[in-house]
Amino acid sequence: MAITKISKHISYKEATHSNTATRRGIKNLPSDKHIVAMKSLAKNVFEPVRVHFDKPIRVNSFFRSVALNKAIGGSSTSQHCKGEAIDLDATKGFTNKQIYNYIKDNLEFDQLIWEFGTDKEPDWVHVSYRADGKNRKQQLRASRKGGKSVYTVIATTKPQEEKPKKTTKLKTKGVVKVATNLNVRAKGNKTAKIVGSLPNKTKVTITKTKNDWHKIKAGKIVGWVFAKYVKI
Ligand SMILES: [Zn+2]
Repeated sequence: MAITKISKHISYKEATHSNTATRRGIKNLPSDKHIVAMKSLAKNVFEPVRVHFDKPIRVNSFFRSVALNKAIGGSSTSQHCKGEAIDLDATKGFTNKQIYNYIKDNLEFDQLIWEFGTDKEPDWVHVSYRADGKNRKQQLRASRKGGKSVYTVIATTKPQEEKPKKTTKLKTKGVVKVATNLNVRAKGNKTAKIVGSLPNKTKVTITKTKNDWHKIKAGKIVGWVFAKYVKI
């Protein structure tokens, strides 16, 4: 791998380093796709945090190969294996809580985890970021119960994306674009009764859109037309 840096403040070596990997001879080599994800996370989360506190931040763990992740007992769905997660630890002059809060209040993220510690200070901060933009802004708290790590969702800032509504109310101008005439129908389907006919270049006002149909008004004619024949 020819690259030496993931971002201004994270070296390739730092991003792939693991004592466990070194000790056990486990390879920890990110693919090109992983590198893209890592750079995106570094640019959108790590660097803004680094710039804000203007102090070194320890990167405890960034990329983990599946073998390494298994060796350290990481979750099988860990975003570290995709290059989408990083573990941060504050150095002198600021705290992990401050890192956590800064990310929570200012940045886009997928999952932000208060890792163990106490109510006042986590042991470290895990944060993940998805380059595809599907970031859930989910906050979790990790704690240990009976020797197991338990993750509790504290908050999800961003609501799940709503499905686009099938019917949208709008008022848009359009122009009929057909070879001959465009049929206007009583309802938005091909077999509905024809209530009018509009020649090419007729100006219409679209008042509603449903599936492939527009409800239009043109002079005294009101009805539904096939949307692809109206240029907006
Ligand atoms: Zn982590």
